[in-house]
Amino acid sequence: MHSKIVIIGSGPAGLTAAIYAARAMMNPVVISGSRPGGQLTITTDVENYPGFVDPVQGPELMKAMREQAARYGTQFHDDMVVDIDHTVRPFGLTLGSGKTMTADTLIISTGADAKWLGLDSEKKYMGFGVSACATCDGFFYRNKKVAVIGGGNTAAEEALFLTHFASEVILFHRRDTLRAEKVLQDRLFKNPKIKFMPDMETIEILGGENPFGVTGIRMKNIKTHNITDFDIDGVFVAIGHKPNTDLFKGKIDMDADGYIIVKSGTTDTSIKGIFAPGDVSDKIYRQAVTAAGMGCMAALDAGRYIDLTT
Ligand code: NAP
Repeated sequence: MHSKIVIIGSGPAGLTAAIYAARAMMNPVVISGSRPGGQLTITTDVENYPGFVDPVQGPELMKAMREQAARYGTQFHDDMVVDIDHTVRPFGLTLGSGKTMTADTLIISTGADAKWLGLDSEKKYMGFGVSACATCDGFFYRNKKVAVIGGGNTAAEEALFLTHFASEVILFHRRDTLRAEKVLQDRLFKNPKIKFMPDMETIEILGGENPFGVTGIRMKNIKTHNITDFDIDGVFVAIGHKPNTDLFKGKIDMDADGYIIVKSGTTDTSIKGIFAPGDVSDKIYRQAVTAAGMGCMAALDAGRYIDLTT
């Protein structure tokens, strides 16, 4: 099997790349990965993707993107890439099913995953009061009380952002010092809507069945061992993200956190002919619409590369 473009991953970045590449007659192949559709398949209402007056469900949006890509001739393989050979041209790929293929260009859009606390209750209420994205879900908490878990820049930014909507934001951190930059800490401590609670470990996210959703959070003070239940309407877990790049370690340049490094204003990686759009290379914006925009850039970058090299 040979293709001009193989796209690894099927979130907004990969599928937008597929739509553009297919319409440019480059016959792209998408290897869908372990969770076809990506992070949006674990969300419910999406209100900030342009073009939808009413909220669209995350899985529905991803299904539509896939159908749009297929309509113009994208081939899908519901398989995993388990190895790439970046040292040969065309590039070599080995899939989980044992199949092998070659590609003139590769678009790596394997995304990133939010890190989670690992509690059963967190899983149970995901999308029903548990979120890892304040930009996406903050709007649902107008005049409500929310908790943010974490102590880094993301947690600080999420807490500050949530004050635009929520009546109260409690920032729970497992230690007594924050990792967030000083300037963000100053803003946090000055904001009357934010309450900082240090030394707090999350024991359980509390919720109801009817209506189904979060109603509180059970925390343990790691110094006093006291356990307290707090009434809250939503929990934002902000303990970091992990880009899905293990497969490319030692092959493509990455930063210290494992994000693929792209040349500013492009999706070019350190290997000519390999492009990396979306959350796999972007740790700042992490939005479906920015990933989709980068997916478009990657298809155009790959097209230009093919024109110049073949
Ligand atoms: P981070 O810096 O790794 O911070 C993660 C936070 O979550 C830490 O405070 C950590 O606690 C806590 N944590 C980790 N695992 C936990 C667990 N199981 N239970 C409870 N707490 C847990 O992650 P980040 O804030 O997402 O930032 C990632 C990178 O992106 C950083 O380099 C950051 O500077 C950058 N970033 C930059 C900006 C910006 O420039 N505007 C914005 C966002 C992120 P400990 O402190 O105890 O380890």
